[in-house]
Amino acid sequence: MQQQASAIVQTLKSRGLRVTPQRFAVYANLLSRADHPTVEQILTELNKDFPVSSQATIYSSLQALREVGLVREVLLEQGVSRYDAKVEPHHHFCCRQCGAIEDIAWNNFQCIEMKNLRPGLRGETYEVTVQGLCDRCIVD
Ligand SMILES: [Zn+2]
Ligand SMILES: [Zn+2]
Repeated sequence: MQQQASAIVQTLKSRGLRVTPQRFAVYANLLSRADHPTVEQILTELNKDFPVSSQATIYSSLQALREVGLVREVLLEQGVSRYDAKVEPHHHFCCRQCGAIEDIAWNNFQCIEMKNLRPGLRGETYEVTVQGLCDRCIVD
């Protein structure tokens, strides 16, 4: 844990970010989970250790982390921002029953051919969101 903490500090510094307790806590929290939490969910978690955290401070830490490319915003549902410390390209599976979100490795799917877009469009990025039922929600 000590080692992990100094690795996190190093990562923040290497991106030119001033290391604040809030940024550290938000980034460490995101690295420790894979459930793509919302700001509210991060706040709930952090308030266990950091009773002074407010949604606004968490939000500004997330903005700072996003600007340097350590965290990305994932929009899977209309109007809901979720955050992910896994910034390399990947897809998502979203359970329509319980809302669980999990990562799908980029290589699990064949590449989409951008050249199949109609002429005049220049595709740059894409990612797939698969909707369905997770193992806990499939009752047979
Ligand atoms: Zn489910
Ligand atoms: Zn993800």
